[in-house]
This record gives sequence, C-alpha cells and structure tokens, in this order.
Amino acid sequence: MDVPVLEITDLFVSIENKEIIKGMDLRIGKGEVHVIFGPNGSGKSTLLNAILKLPGYSIDAGEIRVKSKNIQDMTTDEIANMGIGMSFQHPPKIKGVTLRNFLNAINRSEDLDDEIRALSMEDFLERELNVGFSGGELKRAEVLKLYAQNPDLLLIDEPESGVDIENIAVISKAINKILQKETPMKLRERSAIIITHTGHILNYIDADVGHVFMDGKIVCTGNPKSIMEDIKKLGFVGCVAATKAEKDHT
Ligand code: ADP
Ligand code: MG
Repeated sequence: MDVPVLEITDLFVSIENKEIIKGMDLRIGKGEVHVIFGPNGSGKSTLLNAILKLPGYSIDAGEIRVKSKNIQDMTTDEIANMGIGMSFQHPPKIKGVTLRNFLNAINRSEDLDDEIRALSMEDFLERELNVGFSGGELKRAEVLKLYAQNPDLLLIDEPESGVDIENIAVISKAINKILQKETPMKLRERSAIIITHTGHILNYIDADVGHVFMDGKIVCTGNPKSIMEDIKKLGFVGCVAATKAEKDHT
C-alpha cells in the first residue's frame, strides 16, 4: 500500500496559549480528497496553518507526518517543498510584488498560459498580488498559485467563501483538473483537504471522505454528501448522532 500523504496523530495545537486543536487524528492517502466541515471559529484554518507550521501556531503534542516524514524539525519552506500547497481563506495582499513576479518565483510547472486563461487571470498579471482583488479574483489567483506550485497535497481553505456562483464554477473546474478527477482513482497523484463551512463546494467537486471538526477534534467521518445532509437537517452536532445510528444499524 502507498504511504499516506498526510498522517496526523493525537495532535494538539495552540495559538497564543489558547488550545484550539485538542487531540485530532487524520490520514490522507494518495489520490484522496477529504472535506472538513465545521462551525466558524472551530479551528479548521488552524489545522491547515499548523500543517505548514505558519508562525504563531504552536504544535504542543502529537505528530504530523508528510509522506511518513515527521515535520517536527522542519521549516515552513521545507514542508512546502515536500509538495504541500495552500489556498488561503484570506490570502495576504503583497504590495510591490506583481502576480507575475509571484508566479515566476514559485513556478514548478512549465507553462501556465492555459491555466491563466482558464481562470481569466490574463489582465491581473501586472497587478500587485491580491491588492484590490474582488472575492472571486482572490480565489482564482489562489488556484492559479496551486497550479504553479504543482503540489501533491492541496490544502484548500473555504474556496467558496465570498465567491459568486459563476466564480465557484470556474474555480472548481480548475481544482478538479489539478486533482485529475478525469483520471481513475488509482492513477491520481494528488490529494486534498478542502475546508468548507457551507458544503456548497460538494456540488462541484467530488470528495471521497467527509469529516466534521468540532471542539478541537474530528467528531465524525463518513460519506461527504450524507454528512452534509445530516448537517443540514440536524446541525453540526447532529452528525454525531446520525453516524452512531448508522453504525448501530449495520
Ligand atoms: P475556523 O477556520 O474553523 O473558522 P480558525 O482556525 O480560524 O477557525 O480559528 C480558531 C480559533 O482560533 C478562533 O477562536 C480564532 O479567533 C482563534 N485564532 C485564530 N487565529 C488567531 C490569532 N492569530 N490569535 C489569536 N487567536 C486566533
Ligand atoms: Mg477558517
């Protein structure tokens, strides 16, 4: 069996001495797409930021392994270079650096012309990165960044937040392409964690596994669409009862 791309065991993460992640486990295999649902402020972005060890996030206990390598003593740069790419929920604006400069600096793919066109970013290349970009433009630039990074594991934080329907369709199409959704599962090289507050993105991107993150840990795991149905009917807490009922039933 393939080595998992990401393996998280009994992880505890704090920000400014406030414990946010309290003993969570997660395992992502090659080619798998996982969605994580959860209430606002529960720590979903914290999880992604901790995987890249962004400044301010303290890993207090537990383990994060990327392709079976413990990231404990690695820098953000080294972790990213192992093939992890992030699309931020709130991408930073960088004055003085154009989108073109930025893409040139991180580019690992050969030629981005098709992707730039598919995401309608032609007119943004000479603009300062994310400065004055609308919601949809920000997320399109984030997805273009993923193309350029060519990662094996994509961390995608709330791709649909602040984005209109047309942009969601464009972004999802590009993400599906990166995730090789046209290729049989066994041949897919890339994996992803997609964070979603609304679950709306599931109408556009097929996910293999769904999780609900609450109170610092994953409280249920299952089929993404049925988890979303349970959340709609019963709220985030409801999935726990529903998953238990399903298990008792089978
Ligand atoms: P989610 O993505 O699930 O909405 P976050 O991971 O962004 O949640 O935030 C989890 C908690 O951590 C929230 O209570 C938030 O206010 C807090 N938090 C996030 N970043 C910081 C920070 N830089 N300093 C202090 N608290 C923070
Ligand atoms: Mg968030």
